[in-house]
Amino acid sequence: MRDETLITLAGRDPKRSHGAVNTPVYHASTIAFERVAEMVEAHDRPFEPGTIVYGRFGTPTTFALEEAVATLEGGHRAIAVSSGLAAITAALGAFAKAGGHVLVADSSYGPTRSFCERGLTAGGVEVTYYDPSIGSAIEALLRPNTTAIYLESPGSLTFEVQDVPAITAVARRHGIPTVIDNTWATPYFFKPFAHGIDVSVHAATKYIGGHSDLMLGIIVVNEENFDRVRRHVALLGHSAAPDDCFLALRGLRTLAVRLRRHQESALAVARWLAERPEVERVLHPALPSCPGHELWRRDFLGSSGLFSLVLRPVALERVHAMLESLELFALGYSWGGFESLAIPTDPAPLRTAASWRAQGPVVRLHIGLEDPADLLADLEQGLARLAATS
Ligand SMILES: *Cc1c(COP(=O)(O)O)cnc(C)c1O
Repeated sequence: MRDETLITLAGRDPKRSHGAVNTPVYHASTIAFERVAEMVEAHDRPFEPGTIVYGRFGTPTTFALEEAVATLEGGHRAIAVSSGLAAITAALGAFAKAGGHVLVADSSYGPTRSFCERGLTAGGVEVTYYDPSIGSAIEALLRPNTTAIYLESPGSLTFEVQDVPAITAVARRHGIPTVIDNTWATPYFFKPFAHGIDVSVHAATKYIGGHSDLMLGIIVVNEENFDRVRRHVALLGHSAAPDDCFLALRGLRTLAVRLRRHQESALAVARWLAERPEVERVLHPALPSCPGHELWRRDFLGSSGLFSLVLRPVALERVHAMLESLELFALGYSWGGFESLAIPTDPAPLRTAASWRAQGPVVRLHIGLEDPADLLADLEQGLARLAATS
């Protein structure tokens, strides 16, 4: 079955819900049993598919979402947790141990680095950040105590595309599990398990939810590592809110049409910006100016709506004035909803393996589902403002 069809069918069975097309929202902590043996059996094997034992481990609403995302991404099973960051820290934590060593992409999401620096390091784990363009040369960074390799492709803020198959080939040769943050591409535009990855994490807060109205993380795991990750998530006490799981499932059903539109509009805006005299460089994986562009062409099935631009050197106050003048781009963190967003950002303090060299300020844009002609007109007046105040 092709992805567009799967997106409408996966994790859904009206027979299980009185014919209702969508799995209803089950709010539950206690699950009542008729027999002691049945209760004990469920308690002893809480992660068997379909077992419902206690709200924290999920209800039919949670399971529907987990099944849908795991099916679409090609993983064995999925685990929903309360946020994307919880998914990342739980997945990394499952493979880290005191006295061990993990390799983390230098272009990882800022809070992921904070967890590595303040969480893992404090727990006696050594962390080495590697240049996202490293590819198979990552082998030289492996140590006898390396327990995990963490990837994010494309990277946050700067969008470097990693050579995922080259890295996973090295990892497999050495028996080291790999974890990737696949939030940008979603399970629709990148298939991590087909490229040798063991664990894929998502901020479902972004495109899977798609409407800027929920917080949710999903961890998708291959068969070999599922028990280990599932047990670690249970140990930490994570769970996911049923209303948010329901909204994420609703969002998922339109993921393909939304992403294709985000892709098309973002490309139109990125190409337009690349021609502007105020812009030094556009960091968008589908443009040749993005490091790793050839890898994106080889491995990805599409590009989403988030990218950055490097402006020619200009005072930050002018950049702020430009951003505040935009009418269709809200100023705000997060992304992946139907609306366009802009933030000023600076990757420099978040890079240690390879320093960030651009001279001008960086702006990250999320291109929403508005008519791109309106977005271009808004950016045009914004850029005029940038020039006018200089
Ligand atoms: C937003 C984001 C996260 C964190 O997700 P939350 O749901 O906000 O915790 C993780 N990874 C990437 C790449 C993100 O952009």
